[in-house]
Amino acid sequence: MQTRFDLTQKDIPKNWYNLLADFPEPLPPPLHPGTKEPMPPEALEAIFPRNLIEQETSTERWIEIPEPVREVYALWRPTPLLRAVRLEKALQTPAHIYYKYEGASPAGSHKVNTSVPQAYFNRLAGTRRLATETGAGQWGASLAMACKLFGLECNVYMVKVSYDHKPYRRMLMHVWGATVHASPSNQTEYGRKLLAEDPHCPGSLGIAISEAIEDTTRNPNTKYSLGSVLNHVCLHQTVIGQESIRQMELAGEEPDSIIGCCGGGSNFAGLAFPFMQRKLAGGKNYRIVGVEPSACPTLTKGELRYDFGDTAETTPLLKMFTLGHEFMPPSIHSGGLRYHGMSPMVSHALKLGLMEAEAYQQTKVFEAATLFAQNEGVVPAPESAHAIAAVIAEAVRARESGQKRVILFNLSGHGLLDLSAYEAYLHGKLQDV
Ligand SMILES: *Cc1c(COP(=O)(O)O)cnc(C)c1O
Repeated sequence: MQTRFDLTQKDIPKNWYNLLADFPEPLPPPLHPGTKEPMPPEALEAIFPRNLIEQETSTERWIEIPEPVREVYALWRPTPLLRAVRLEKALQTPAHIYYKYEGASPAGSHKVNTSVPQAYFNRLAGTRRLATETGAGQWGASLAMACKLFGLECNVYMVKVSYDHKPYRRMLMHVWGATVHASPSNQTEYGRKLLAEDPHCPGSLGIAISEAIEDTTRNPNTKYSLGSVLNHVCLHQTVIGQESIRQMELAGEEPDSIIGCCGGGSNFAGLAFPFMQRKLAGGKNYRIVGVEPSACPTLTKGELRYDFGDTAETTPLLKMFTLGHEFMPPSIHSGGLRYHGMSPMVSHALKLGLMEAEAYQQTKVFEAATLFAQNEGVVPAPESAHAIAAVIAEAVRARESGQKRVILFNLSGHGLLDLSAYEAYLHGKLQDV
C-alpha cells in the first residue's frame, strides 16, 4: 500500500496564498500604540523593511516567491506527506490519518519557511542586522540559519529560563553564527530596568520581544523579525497547505478534518489557509481545528480585542484573541505555544466561523505524542503533539460512530531537542495546569 506521497523540486509552490484577498469581512487594521488610530504602513518602517510591510498589508491573492527563496526551500521542500497507517491500526479506527511533516527541515520545524524569505527580503532592502526574540529557541535557530545563508548578522534575545535550561537550540544558534542574549539582558534599557528590580527574573516572550524591538530602534541598519502572529508570516507558511492539497490528490482522498496546533498561529495558518480558500470559494465543507494547551487557552478562553504583542506596550495594537499582554503562562513543556495572543488572521477566521478551536492538557498531549512515536517512528515536537491529541480524539470518535473520516494534520516539527520533556512524562513528572 502506498503510504507516502512525494512531490519534486519543481512542485515547490511559485506563489504564497494570501487569505486577506478572500475574507468575507476585512481584517481590522493594527492601531498605533500611542494614538490608537489605524497605523499608517510607513510607521512600521522603523522596525520592518518596506517590502515585508507591503506583504503584511497586501490584499493580492497570490504573492510570488522569489527564485532565490525557492532554491533555499529546495534544501527540504517539498516536505513529505504520509499516511499514518500504523497509528490507524493501533487506534482500530476506520479513519484515514495523513500528516504533513515539516520536521524534515534543517532546523526541525516549519519556522524556516518564513525565516528564509524574511532574511532574503531584508537583504534585498539593505538591512545588515536582524534582531529577534525566541522562547525555547526554535525561532531563533530558524532565523540564525536564514541570516547565515543570506549574509546578515543575527541577534537573538532568548527567554532566560530557556537559555539556562534548553542549551541545545542555543548551541544550534551559535553553530549558525548568531549572537544570543539571555533575556532580560543588559543590552537594553528595558532589560537593565527589569534586572535592577529582580536579578533573577526568568524572562518571558513578551519581555524578549520588547528587548528585540528596542535593539532594532537603537542600532543602525537593524530590523526586527517575528516568527509567528503577523500576516506576512502566515502568508509564507502557506507553502505547507498548497503542497498538501496536491499530495492529498496523489493519495486520491479529500480530507474531512484539517488540524494544526496554535501558538501564534503560523503553522496552523500555513496548512489551513489554502483549504479555507476552497471552503470560501469552492463550497467545500472542511472541519478545520486549531489546537492549543489548556494552560494557555488563547482561542478557547481568550477575548477578541485589541491588545499589545509585548509586555512593555511598544508594539502596534492588534485585534486578536488574547489572554492579556500581562498574562504569564504557567511553565509547560511546549514553549512554542506559550504566547498570550494569536495571529489576527487566525483570530478573524475563528470569529467568522471558518474554523474551530480545542484545548488539551499536557499529559494527554504527551500520551498522544508517545503513541505516535511508538507507531510511526517520528518523535513529535511537544507543540505538534497538541494536534496529534486532537487527531486521536477524532479518530476514536470515528471508531465509536463507525464513520470513515479522512484527517489531515500538520506535524510542525520533531521533538529530538525536547527529549527532557518526554523523560519528565515517562517518569510521571508532568503536571496538568
Ligand atoms: C514555534 C512552533 C509552533 C508554534 O508556533 P505557530 O506560529 O503557532 O506555528 C508549533 N510547532 C513547532 C514545532 C514550533 O517550533
